[in-house]
Amino acid sequence: MIPYGRQDITEADVNAVIDVLRSDFLTQGPIVPRFETVVSGHVGANYGVAVNSATSALHIACLALGVGPGDWVWTSPITFVASSNSALYCGAKVDFVDVDPRTYNLCADALEAKLRIAESDGRLPKVVIAVHLCGQACDMRSIHALAHKYGFKIIEDASHAVGAKYLGEYVGSSNYSDITVFSFHPVKIVTTAEGGMAVTNDASLAERMSLFRSHGVTRDPDLMTKETEGAWYYQQIELGYNYRMTEIQAALGISQMTRLDEYVSVRQALAKRYDDLLDELPLILPWQHPDTYSAYHIYPVRLKLDQIARGRRQVFDLLREAGIGVNVHYIPVHLQPYYIRMGFKPGDFPEAEKYYAEGITLPLYPTMGTQGQDQVIQSVTQALNR
Ligand SMILES: *Cc1c(COP(=O)(O)O)cnc(C)c1O
Repeated sequence: MIPYGRQDITEADVNAVIDVLRSDFLTQGPIVPRFETVVSGHVGANYGVAVNSATSALHIACLALGVGPGDWVWTSPITFVASSNSALYCGAKVDFVDVDPRTYNLCADALEAKLRIAESDGRLPKVVIAVHLCGQACDMRSIHALAHKYGFKIIEDASHAVGAKYLGEYVGSSNYSDITVFSFHPVKIVTTAEGGMAVTNDASLAERMSLFRSHGVTRDPDLMTKETEGAWYYQQIELGYNYRMTEIQAALGISQMTRLDEYVSVRQALAKRYDDLLDELPLILPWQHPDTYSAYHIYPVRLKLDQIARGRRQVFDLLREAGIGVNVHYIPVHLQPYYIRMGFKPGDFPEAEKYYAEGITLPLYPTMGTQGQDQVIQSVTQALNR
């Protein structure tokens, strides 16, 4: 089976992990801060807060921005459930903004229309989570301008987009947002097995996120309510969590980061090759906005079902039977039973639902090579054959 995504682990990665296992610290040592510096330095952010997953990073990002009961958080329905769940963890209410029919990212025009209505209803969002689907950045300039006008904060869910660029700068430089979140799950661009990071240019947000990462406990005298009682002393000043990353994970991450740009350029080259070789088939291929340089975490195609004798499910099953590990990204979040119970229903976000009905994610990862890719293309051609 050719999976839809796969990690690449080198001897250098293995040795980096072994070195940690032989060292004094398995957790809370010098490597995690070094990894934070490597990632934030690479993408051009002032601060990085490493955690045990992107889900945790989204949660502490929401908490640091003050999201709580009574607040609204908006995001895209075409994302992994973690994007919106992070707001629910804070007791906030979630709503969605329909996607752009070309990029499948949160549509800035739909956002503006929804904000106008929300303003008159007094239900403006506190935070909008912009998800960079596939690794292609959202229309951040427009979203940022709307944030200024309507007074909300922006979290970029860049779980797919470490190494991607927007207007020539790395996603994470946070020119158009407050906090950017990366995932290091093995299917993503670089991996720490499990892991994530929130980057920001705002020192106080970084400090707040660090607090929430580790129980809300501080040893910083400036944050304490009174004089220290001695060298052992710490204070819990917020309700935080144990979301810490281990030294083992951080060492793997540092080693992986040396190949980030190379991974993205190989993904770009493979995507271009798909673009060329799938061009004649009854498919809509991933359209790229000229402002973006995608990390190509995934390569979803849409079936032109009116030109194909088979349905999406049939095509999907044929590909799986042929050993092609296709997938679907994503089932619209508002159609999950948990969200249906909150009052969402089919038809709420038509572009998202249309995309979902036609979408299949083809395998894409650096080590698949052109031979692996040719096998995918051949199987897709056969599965679509009229
Ligand atoms: C993978 C993913 C997450 C969650 O990442 P974890 O590191 O597995 O917690 C969140 N949002 C999106 C868009 C993702 O793809």
